[in-house]
Order: sequence, then structure tokens, then C-alpha cells
Amino acid sequence: MQNLDTFKALLAEPKKIVITTHQNPDADALGSSLGLYNYLIKYNHEVQVITPTDYPDFLFWMKGNDDVIAYNEQLHDSIAETVDKADLIFCLDFSSLNRINELGVLVGQSNAKKVLIDHHLDPEDFAEFVLWSTQAAATAELIYDLIELLDDLDSIDQDIAECLYAGIMTDTGSFKHPSTTAKVHTIVAQLIAHGAQVSKVSKLIYDNNSVNRLKFIGFALSERLYVLENINVAYILLSNEDMARFNLKSGDTEGLVNYALSIKGIKMAAIIMDKGDLVKMSFRSVGEFSVNEFAQNNFNGGGHKNAAGGASKMTLKETEDKFLNEIQKHKNQLIHEN
Ligand code: 5GP
Ligand code: MN
Repeated sequence: MQNLDTFKALLAEPKKIVITTHQNPDADALGSSLGLYNYLIKYNHEVQVITPTDYPDFLFWMKGNDDVIAYNEQLHDSIAETVDKADLIFCLDFSSLNRINELGVLVGQSNAKKVLIDHHLDPEDFAEFVLWSTQAAATAELIYDLIELLDDLDSIDQDIAECLYAGIMTDTGSFKHPSTTAKVHTIVAQLIAHGAQVSKVSKLIYDNNSVNRLKFIGFALSERLYVLENINVAYILLSNEDMARFNLKSGDTEGLVNYALSIKGIKMAAIIMDKGDLVKMSFRSVGEFSVNEFAQNNFNGGGHKNAAGGASKMTLKETEDKFLNEIQKHKNQLIHEN
């Protein structure tokens, strides 16, 4: 962070602080937010975590979860007041304000100093303080870095350690993705030393399936998986009726795209879901093919090189056709490159 001394001086006195993160928060979004929340409240700051949407119940165990406010229209006025009165607003795990919907408008209007902490590509220039690195495996890793910059690693307790561990574990795909550096393991070793219980966190996050969700995964894999063997692409296509049939909750489709990517030889995988008001997509790749660019160029999206998402206002069929048409253009790269 460039102006670290000014930032430190700001935090030296108790402040009114808002922490926000991207819509449909995942374990890194919520884990980095609540890791930071649990750190800041130790110093008597008045801290409110506000998420742009709700999030899945496998994240509810995190310390501080009960104090999180998820934006909805009924809460608009009181959230607007909190955001407006804040001295500092931390924006975690997203890089542009349009990723947080109506909340982004409120954050943009607030006179609070903004702090961007993120590891996505192409950050928007809206914050006074920035801790940004695409080398970071997770925003939770950057929260650890921030506490280190504040010379305060000793203050990390079990609650903070477990929130940060959850973010790093999930964003590295359980320490499998290329982002899993020696530094990641060093930080995780420190989090364990500060009390993080790794098997507890792993079970809370990964072994929290409903029977319904497992049946849905079975259905999606047997009935809705398409494999384009000639170009090493696999995708899952879910209609609005499919989603309704299994009464899917927030988070139920999380990770599904990874099954498509796990097929031998597949270089790019997608899930394309009709959510009624729009068609939402998740993209994953292995190797050099950039799904971030693919999402940006075709589906008004973004993310990381190997994990990105986007959306479309077209019908499911039109979106699928566009996807198939655009992905064919990358045939050579998908067949020949690693
Ligand atoms: P997921 O597929 O797990 O929802 O998201 C993968 C990555 O892409 C995450 O880092 C997420 O923030 C990003 N992402 C997902 N959807 C969108 C989108 O519509 N726009 C942008 N800019 N990023 C997205
Ligand atoms: Mn992240």
C-alpha cells in the first residue's frame, strides 16, 4: 500500500467503518470481510459488514456472521445512512463498484475514504488506499498481508485465522490451483499456529450438502452435461425449470463447473444457468486460455485468468448459441496449447 502511514494514522483512532464485498459472496468474500471485521473490532472501531446479496448457509459459521447485513430494498434507507456516515469503506474481493449493484452507487456517493483490497484483474480507480495483487491467491491472503503491514500479526486469533483460512482454502481449490505459492503455505501455517482448525473449516464448508443438492448434482451431470471433445470444452446447461425442480438455494450450484473441468483433457468448462431475469455463467480453464478475456469480450464479465463469470440478457438458447459460436473461435488454442 502506497500511503501506508496515512492509513495507519486513520486507524489509530476508533472509526466508523463499512466493509463490503461482491454479490453472491463466496468463502473468500465473506472470510476476508469477517477476518477483517474481527480484527478491527479489537480496536474499538464501529464496524458494519454489508453484502450486496445474501449468501449460502455453509458460510454462516464464521464469527461475526450474525452482525452482517445483506442488502435488500427494504433496508435501502438505513444502509444508505450507514454508508454515508462511514469514515472508511473497505471494498474486498471485487474490483469495480458495478459488481456490488445498488450498494456500489451508495459507496460511490459516500465521502468516506475507500480502501480496495482485491486480487481480480483490471481494478477500477475509485479508492484512496489500495492493496491489490493478482498474484495473491485470495483476498484473505491480502488481509493477512495488511495485518502484517500494520505490524500486528500477534493479534490474529482463532476466529480471524479461521475466516482467512476459509478464503484461502476455497480460492486455491483446496491448495490445488497454480496460485498456491510457497507464500500461501507459509501464511496458512501461521493461521494454523494462531488456532485455525483445518479439518473443522473444511468440513463446515465442503461437507454441508443437502440430499437435494447431491441429487441435483447427479441430475446435472447425467442429463445436462455437454462435452465438445474435438475442442476440449465441456459445459453444463441449466434451464429455469431445472433450477425450480430442485428448488435451488444460493450456493447450490457452486463448484459444479469444476466437475466439467475435471474431465480428462478438458481445457475449458462452463456452466450456463437461466436465472429468470438473466442467464448467469461461470467459466473455468486450465493453462493459458484466459476465461477472464473470454468473459469480458463476450458476456460483460470478468474475474481471473482461469476462473471468471459473466451474464447475458438473451434467452438461454441464444446464450448457448453465442457461447458455442465464440468458443469455436478459440479452437486452435484449446486444442494445441497447454
Ligand atoms: P464464479 O464463477 O465462482 O461465480 O466466479 C469466478 C470469478 O469470476 C470470481 O472471481 C468472480 O468474482 C468473477 N465473476 C463472476 N461473475 C462475474 C461477472 O459477471 N462479472 C465480473 N466482472 N466478474 C465475475
Ligand atoms: Mn477471491
